[in-house]
Amino acid sequence: DTVIVLFTRDLRVHDHPALAAACARARQVLPLFVLDPAVPAGRRGPFLLDCLEDLRASLRARGGDLLVRRGDVVEETMRLASETSATAVYASADVSSLARRRQERFGAERIEFRRFPGLTVIPPDLLRPAGGGDHYRVFTPYWRAWSFAPRRQMEEPPPVVPTPRGLDPGVIPPHEPYGTRGGESAARERMSGWMRLCLDGYAEGHDDLAGDRTSRLSPYLRFGCLSPLELAGCGNDDYVRQLCWRDFHYQVAFAFPALNRRDYRPREITWREDEDAAQAWREGMTGVPIVDAGMRQLLAEGWMHNRARMITASYLVRQLRVDWRVGAAHFFELLLDGDVANNSGNWQWIAGTGNDTRPNRSFNPLRQARRFDPDGEYVRRYVPELAGLPGGLVHEPWRLPTPVRGYPTPLTRQ
Ligand code: FAD
Repeated sequence: DTVIVLFTRDLRVHDHPALAAACARARQVLPLFVLDPAVPAGRRGPFLLDCLEDLRASLRARGGDLLVRRGDVVEETMRLASETSATAVYASADVSSLARRRQERFGAERIEFRRFPGLTVIPPDLLRPAGGGDHYRVFTPYWRAWSFAPRRQMEEPPPVVPTPRGLDPGVIPPHEPYGTRGGESAARERMSGWMRLCLDGYAEGHDDLAGDRTSRLSPYLRFGCLSPLELAGCGNDDYVRQLCWRDFHYQVAFAFPALNRRDYRPREITWREDEDAAQAWREGMTGVPIVDAGMRQLLAEGWMHNRARMITASYLVRQLRVDWRVGAAHFFELLLDGDVANNSGNWQWIAGTGNDTRPNRSFNPLRQARRFDPDGEYVRRYVPELAGLPGGLVHEPWRLPTPVRGYPTPLTRQ
């Protein structure tokens, strides 16, 4: 028979349970990706298209192909099914509300629709707290349960993908690069290089802003170019714990689909409507160097160091008292790794409406800057107006007798 493998955010051939199952069962396999104009990829577009080109090349090397269509995902999949008499659609299970609506729609079609794991290490609906409830609200007990949970077997990439000839492969639009190059090959290269050089020093190095020693694999995880299960086999507990945070937010989003709109744990907070302050924050012009460095890294690279994400987010919600949703929307638009569960989950954590067990925690930018950018190198790299300032002054330009040309005085007292 003929099986369609519907790719979404699982753009790889290694450890891909849906693809492996289709190749094991079916005489003909149709790998498909549908570009849906109703769900524009925005800044992530070029990265996504890189991923599709790379996936198509890998599938072709195995005798297959990636069919690319444009339109509504369910309609285009069903059209291909009727053209080819396919009897089943295989896809990776996803937690977003969009993906879930789509899964429901497939359920109503006259075709076998099967979901497979692969987007997280442990499926988001697998673990239940002993004390009751449909998901874990606190990280530490989740981490404990997660560490002992049984894991599925990893899947080998299929040696042959039997896609029939004669179908229109469809066009992957040409595109300009933005930020990092996407795709499974680039991801695997980065993964092995980083693991060889940096994994051992992860515990000590991951908070050093200028050192930039985290894996930077998050955009690849976002599009599924790498299997989180494969990464979780690396043997470094400090790193694996971060992957567990990712799974943690997925299981929260699975249980609370409004995570990007509604407070997960509602609190009495009066937000200020201050578009000027929000805009200065977006542009990296708050006058607080460590905040501005982070925001400018985001603008320049479509990525920001985790420590800087915490500092900049905390500054927006605690000091400017602007609603976390304003900040989350900006991050979501620009981040190559932007995804609803991790972005909103982390923003709510910072805002105190999420899963933090210390919801009143606030990050003092100056203290954070001295601790995690002690030589000011991170600020100098991203805020050129301050590059000439010596030593620790780079974090406190307001102490200079005259303001630095072109750089604002702080929006809030430091
Ligand atoms: P590494 O340090 O190498 O970590 C390895 C992997 O673990 C990451 O690739 C990521 O998949 C996962 N991870 C690490 N920290 C976290 C975390 N706190 N929460 C969830 N997963 C984590 N991450 C996203 O993937 N998408 C987002 O949209 C996103 N938005 C964020 C917004 C805010 C306000 C904050 C504070 C954090 C956000 N994060 C988000 C989490 C984290 O900052 C990034 O995952 C991390 O910086 C990615 O860089 P890396 O791959 O080098 O991480």
